[in-house]
Amino acid sequence: MNKIPKVISLIGKEFRESKKPTVRKTSEKRDPFKTLIACLLSLRTRDENTAKASSSLFKVADTPEEILKLPIRKLEKLIFSSGFYKNKARTINHVSKVILEEYNGKVPSDIDKLMEIKGIGRKTAAICMVYGFNKPHYIPTDVHVHQIANRLGWVKTKIPDQTELELMKIVPRKYWYELNTLFVLFGKKICVSVSPFCSKCPVNKYCPRIGVKRSR
Ligand code: SF4
Repeated sequence: MNKIPKVISLIGKEFRESKKPTVRKTSEKRDPFKTLIACLLSLRTRDENTAKASSSLFKVADTPEEILKLPIRKLEKLIFSSGFYKNKARTINHVSKVILEEYNGKVPSDIDKLMEIKGIGRKTAAICMVYGFNKPHYIPTDVHVHQIANRLGWVKTKIPDQTELELMKIVPRKYWYELNTLFVLFGKKICVSVSPFCSKCPVNKYCPRIGVKRSR
């Protein structure tokens, strides 16, 4: 039996009512630029910090033109709560500049073009495509998606980008849109990185727990 649809639907049931991550909420406005910037702010930080930084920044500037008008110190201050604020400010400034100068202020709706911009990796580009442009042709794969898919034995991969390509071969297309959000929520609450809560996991009977050394 193919367990993938069953596992996704059980995890979906568990997290149906959960609060969506900030990047996902930002994308509900169907503004690819804000989705992209929120995703850059979310790197290596907790969701509450992303929410705080995105809200401070977007109150003042939410287009490439407006961001480029901000002195870099001011931009750093606005996004301070997201952590790594100096690097993130430089990246956001650069991304805004490229989008304004090379793409007339519109985010390119092409994953390869997005990834050509310094500072935008595969996951960020895929998030922008799927949630910002509503084009679910990819499976945005971060550390949660990567780790969970490997623990479940769906893939046997070393890095998230490789995991995405493998998942696209085996996960039915109708689940691509929701998979990232569900696995991020699941990875934060149950299938956590160190010592996952296997005893209360809704999919434990379908999981070989590959690579799990310690669990609760
Ligand atoms: S059984 Fe454990 S390792 Fe497997 S998905 Fe659930 S929490 Fe993760």
